[in-house]
Amino acid sequence: MTSIEKLKFLNEDQVRSIAGEFGTPVFVYSQAEIEKKCDEALSFPNAFGLNVRYAMKASPNANVLKIMQNKGILIDASSEYEVHRAVAAGFPYSSIMITSQQFPKDLKFFIEKGVEFNACSLQQLEEFGKLFPGHTVSIRFNPGLGSGHTKKTDVGGVTSSFGIWHEKMPELKAIVSKYNLVVNKVHTHIGSGSDPEVWKAVAHYTLEYAEMFKSVTTVSLGGGYKVGRMADEKSTDLQLIGKPAKELFVQFAEKHGRKLKLEIEPGTYLVALCASLITTVDDKIDTGAKGFRFLKLDTGMDANTRPSLYGAKHPLVTVPKDGRSVTKTEEYVVVGHCCESGDVFTQKEGGEPITRLMAETNVGDLVSMEAVGAYCSSMSTKNYNSFPETQEVLVLNSGETKLIRKKQPLEDIYKNEIKVL
Ligand SMILES: *Cc1c(COP(=O)(O)O)cnc(C)c1O
Repeated sequence: MTSIEKLKFLNEDQVRSIAGEFGTPVFVYSQAEIEKKCDEALSFPNAFGLNVRYAMKASPNANVLKIMQNKGILIDASSEYEVHRAVAAGFPYSSIMITSQQFPKDLKFFIEKGVEFNACSLQQLEEFGKLFPGHTVSIRFNPGLGSGHTKKTDVGGVTSSFGIWHEKMPELKAIVSKYNLVVNKVHTHIGSGSDPEVWKAVAHYTLEYAEMFKSVTTVSLGGGYKVGRMADEKSTDLQLIGKPAKELFVQFAEKHGRKLKLEIEPGTYLVALCASLITTVDDKIDTGAKGFRFLKLDTGMDANTRPSLYGAKHPLVTVPKDGRSVTKTEEYVVVGHCCESGDVFTQKEGGEPITRLMAETNVGDLVSMEAVGAYCSSMSTKNYNSFPETQEVLVLNSGETKLIRKKQPLEDIYKNEIKVL
């Protein structure tokens, strides 16, 4: 069964008026929607306290970060640059934990300022130990199982390089004792899935790691709370997956006399549904009776690369420019404006184009790409074809819509080039 997708938080008049005021393409974020998601995350079931860290790589605009900070949410940074960016947005160093695939070059400075370090490999732990013997440290484990929508979003199990493999405990303990490190947190983050059974298993394993280090006071279960973007996709019920984990924390306290604090690190969950990308249909193409009808938008993988990268689906909602009511529907392949055959918004994982049932759409109509709050603006193939970085606006609780990132001026695209000829 296919149904036509609907706008998530804007109405048609708002889409038209934002397009009219700012032009397209434009990312539109909603303060109210983000705050709602923050509240849901902050009520994640827990036995002995909860920290929520925002995985800022999902959407790092300073205004989005400010909304999080005002809600009492902390930061999960994935690189040294993200640490600096969060600080520039107003977060104190002490509210940031860094979990980085690459050993941060500024780590000495960060630790002195109070940033928490999550060691993601034995080598990272060794490097940290050399720099900070006797210091507290968090350890990221790969518990040997993952939960992801696709292989590309799965960050646990043998195919994943993220975290210290769970069977490396002897090597890990040797480094910890060599440098007198104090393991105060154990951490897992296994990817973007929604299976409660997997979450329960992960909580179980993570608590086993907590058992092995008496100094552990906090257990982080990471992020990866899947969000349904399309009408037929389901979102993770945080209460449902959190409840069994909470019980395990209670049992742990009864058995070991240690009340562990829970930490979670949602990225997707906090922002995915809280933004739309308003675009204009630039062209319509068809490839004959046996072919397809294409809608070409004035945006592309340079604004949202998720469909090209892993066949992710986003609702595509036609908003007629002239406000006419449309009852006729049509199957379209919706493509981006980049000169790249993979720039297709309706495709299977692997690249095969698929059609999408939409309201009949004309050149000049608006199409709102919904649920683009996470890993779209932040993860795009920005500046491909020299298309400038897309502008962003925020709908404030007051109802006002403010520009929070302007469209990139052309010169900024090539300002770091050095002419030698
Ligand atoms: C990316 C990331 C997250 C957030 O993942 P989501 O799927 O966006 O919830 C949390 N923790 C770490 C360590 C990450 O790298």
